[in-house]
Amino acid sequence: MTKVLRCSDIKPGCDFEIRGNSEEEVMKQATAHAKTAHNIQDITPELASKVRSAIHEESQAKGHSSGSN
Ligand SMILES: [Zn+2]
Repeated sequence: MTKVLRCSDIKPGCDFEIRGNSEEEVMKQATAHAKTAHNIQDITPELASKVRSAIHEESQAKGHSSGSN
């Protein structure tokens, strides 16, 4: 089950995408990205909950419907 976070959901204009096997892993990477890319040194509880709510499971459907017909 892959979790995906689109940074643009938090920071419009940033097309960075984070993938991880768990919410924790995504949060960890998001924290690192926030520091390096957005100069956010401190993730407030408010921001953390915003990030968490933006994390979603990667959808299986990807345009092309290959497989059985
Ligand atoms: Zn970003």
